[in-house]
Amino acid sequence: MPAETFSCDSLPSGTLSVEQAQERILQAIAPITATETVALRDALGRILAQDLSAPLNVPAFTNSAMDGYAIRHTDLARQPLKVIGTAFAGKPFLRNINAGECVRIMTGAVVPDGADCIAIQENVQREGDFIQIRGDIALQEYLRFSGDDIKQGELLLAKNRRLNAADLGLLASQGIAQVPVLRRPKIAFCSTGDELKSLGEDLGLGDIYDSNRYTLYALLKKLDVEILDWGVIKDTREAVEALFQQARHDADLVITSGGVSVGEADYIADTLERLGQVNFWKIAVKPGKPLAFGKVGNCHFFGLPGNPVSVMATFLLFVRPAILQLRGEAVTALPEYTAICETPIKKEVGRKDYQRGICWLNEQQEWRVRTTGGQGSHILRSMSQANCFIPIPLELGNLAAGSKVNIIPFENLL
Ligand code: AMP
Ligand code: MG
Repeated sequence: MPAETFSCDSLPSGTLSVEQAQERILQAIAPITATETVALRDALGRILAQDLSAPLNVPAFTNSAMDGYAIRHTDLARQPLKVIGTAFAGKPFLRNINAGECVRIMTGAVVPDGADCIAIQENVQREGDFIQIRGDIALQEYLRFSGDDIKQGELLLAKNRRLNAADLGLLASQGIAQVPVLRRPKIAFCSTGDELKSLGEDLGLGDIYDSNRYTLYALLKKLDVEILDWGVIKDTREAVEALFQQARHDADLVITSGGVSVGEADYIADTLERLGQVNFWKIAVKPGKPLAFGKVGNCHFFGLPGNPVSVMATFLLFVRPAILQLRGEAVTALPEYTAICETPIKKEVGRKDYQRGICWLNEQQEWRVRTTGGQGSHILRSMSQANCFIPIPLELGNLAAGSKVNIIPFENLL
């Protein structure tokens, strides 16, 4: 590996490293506080708005963990025991068990008063109304005591938790049918560019189909937010200004793609500066430079580059954590693993690359990776073929085949 001495301090002024940009984004975004109450099934994937404590003991009553016989432990010495009834789950046996008596019991049934352990049926010989037990049993064996799993009043689920399938079951087991959750953020997105045609339209010379709106829609779908598709915006100052006015009123966060660099038809950064506040707009990253981040009124604003790969990469690296924070969820870095890269890597010193790779575990359970080939930001196919990013720190240059690199698997984010 080349021993370059490039660091964050060597970046041109105004240009942030990836990590600095991510930090600035999280600092700028306060989680949504508005709450609503939804039915339990609709709470899946939503963020819990307050701590929930348990209204009930679980189990609510002491019950049997096995099918067998509920007995008094001291009676082991005075067998055979007389079977005086049966306790089913949901159909308790309501009398007391006296000396020399026992009750046939099923898993989940209330343990009758007087019994203090369960003889499992595999160890019991029954003849008529009498049983003989083989082997020893510990006091309290196979009893599930009231409050063993959850004690009434105990914290069940903490605020800001993203509710999953197990949580829904847990809440149901407590009889909780309505759940307080945070409001979903409204996330709007649109494409900019005079060359963009929507699906179904004819392509003229120089036109292309708008693919970014489909990738953005799909990426947003994964995050369980309210999605607003604002279509295609023309490359005019007026159109971009109108977009900013709409953002101010109708969304918590707006994502645009294209028109953010310094070409003659690029109005995004300039309009953000005039009608809102720019937090930053240069990151030393490829793909993804330039990217404008700021605010219009109370609406957060991401102006992503137009190239299709840049849109996806910058979404995963910068917009996704922003949305997680906005929706009230804890933001953690995407997991990285070390891998041996089987292909050489071309890379310029001075920016962090997120090259597209295909990774796999070899027979020794070690990660291997190769790049998808051409790394142009316009080659969307590289994103479609890839299953991971290969992040390469800004201080590094070209890498030879066999180099140790990091990988960030992203399949389950797409
Ligand atoms: P721009 O950032 O507007 O200069 O766009 C950079 C490149 O991305 C150009 O080749 C655009 O045609 C292309 N591009 C911009 N927006 C889209 C889009 N929504 N879908 C596909 N390609 C786009
Ligand atoms: Mg453009």
